[in-house]
Amino acid sequence: MQDEPLNLAFALEHAARFHGHVEIVTRQVDDGKIHRYTYADSLRRTKKLANALRKLDVQVGDRIATMAWNTFRHFEAWYAIAGQGAICHTVNPRLFEQQIEFIINHAEDSILFLDAQFVPMLEQLQEKLPSIKHYIVLTDEAHMPTTTLPKTVAYETLIQDEPDEFDWPTFPEETPSSLCYTSGTTGNPKGVIYTHRSNFLHSYAINCKDVIGLAATDTVLKVVPMFHANSWGFAYACPMVGSKLVLPGSQLDGESLYELLDEEQVTISAAVPTVWNMLLAHLSDSDRQLPYLQEVFVGGSAVPRRVVESFDNEYEVTVVHAWGMTEMSPIGTICRLKPFMKQFDYQRQVDIRLKQGTPVFGVAMKIVDDDGNELPRDGLAVGRLLVKGPWIVKRYYKEPDNAVDDGSWFDTGDIATIDEYGYMQITDRAKDLIKSGGEWISSVDLENAAMGHPQVALAAVIGKFHPKWEERPLLVVKPIDNSTVSASELFDYLTDKVAKWWLPDDIAFVDDIPLTATGKISKVQLREQFHDYELPEARVSS
Ligand code: AMP
Repeated sequence: MQDEPLNLAFALEHAARFHGHVEIVTRQVDDGKIHRYTYADSLRRTKKLANALRKLDVQVGDRIATMAWNTFRHFEAWYAIAGQGAICHTVNPRLFEQQIEFIINHAEDSILFLDAQFVPMLEQLQEKLPSIKHYIVLTDEAHMPTTTLPKTVAYETLIQDEPDEFDWPTFPEETPSSLCYTSGTTGNPKGVIYTHRSNFLHSYAINCKDVIGLAATDTVLKVVPMFHANSWGFAYACPMVGSKLVLPGSQLDGESLYELLDEEQVTISAAVPTVWNMLLAHLSDSDRQLPYLQEVFVGGSAVPRRVVESFDNEYEVTVVHAWGMTEMSPIGTICRLKPFMKQFDYQRQVDIRLKQGTPVFGVAMKIVDDDGNELPRDGLAVGRLLVKGPWIVKRYYKEPDNAVDDGSWFDTGDIATIDEYGYMQITDRAKDLIKSGGEWISSVDLENAAMGHPQVALAAVIGKFHPKWEERPLLVVKPIDNSTVSASELFDYLTDKVAKWWLPDDIAFVDDIPLTATGKISKVQLREQFHDYELPEARVSS
């Protein structure tokens, strides 16, 4: 066979040549107006940017950061950076400033592309970011903010005089293409490097019919942010098959998404459950329907039964549950019914569709006990979920090998069962993290912040169900003897110690917090103790 090293730029080249008239539609972040152009236009501008980056002396392996919403310019940056062998480091703007500072310095990014709204944040941080030599604001001169950032240019000005021809260089397909940081249970985020090869394989896999299976007849609303978990691979999978691509910019509320779904006649979309909760609330308030939408993919957190049933019964839209991780590019499993299950009654079918699903071809999966022994696939045995495959992380960026077992399995930190048909179901999380609206909150960091209060003897944080965000933190506090500390005093104390959206939804005071034999907080027992507890907002909605 011919030795043709894979380069992700081929996906955009292919789309421009064979689906050149197909549109990419963006809700712009500057003014909310709709921008439309085609894959052919996109490739021309991507090549202009590739030339501009070369002039800025970008070399193979350099890390170039983006901090931006889903827009056509961000899409161009992904391809121009990776296509020439540099690494596109997507920075999550929802992280708090110390984490952003850490990851940019850890990655040693030399250029930062950013939406104008993040300019003030970067002005605060820039003195602590010595590696960044250029700031490129993803806008035109008309919308360019005045800024004290050094060496800053508007994206349109940067590319305007560049030629729209560029020969993508040849490099080994194992060359890194992109970098995404994900939260650790404590301390600083950890980097996951994707390669051209891993992204290619992952894109082929998700484009199989029984996985996501995009087609040229689809219009895809890509809600999942380009700064999160490799954007679930959609930025490559859409041009590979020529799907029309709709990018929602920064407006992710129900009404704005509905407008795009309706006006662009979207057939497929993907997002975390919180987004679908907001859309469903908007639809029911406004008495609207979804005549074009066929399938929505839900992942990042477990899909709630009410989301599946509401889409099924009120809107005739099929919800497909998926599971994955930043470390897995991210898709690991997808939940579709096997033919014989179509005869089951509706509730039994929904029970299965709420599972995380069966592995995508290319992902091996097993559950093990604490000694690493494989457990039976009987739907009953509960164990640590291990995975391996060509788009699964081997080690974190600049960190020692973290593989487990025989050296090739990756420990997901999830606890699961696998049934006789191969359906995996997550039952718990070994990692001490809370997922709120698709973003991580570190229980340990929050506990440490609370423990800093002089009247707190012991603090523990657990996740509890929330009707909008799926999970929110409950802080459980054992005060010191004779303490008079109140919940409001503790909230005030925490306000400047953690990001605002990390603040617990409630604080419960207890006489004792259960400990394990080794003296650690027993989250298992604590979760049991608070099994029937409901957060204030959950109480209102139930
Ligand atoms: P992230 O890397 O931020 O995408 O987070 C990956 C983690 O999110 C997984 O290890 C799970 O703990 C959780 N997760 C992702 N998808 C699902 C799902 N469908 N159901 C339950 N948890 C999920």
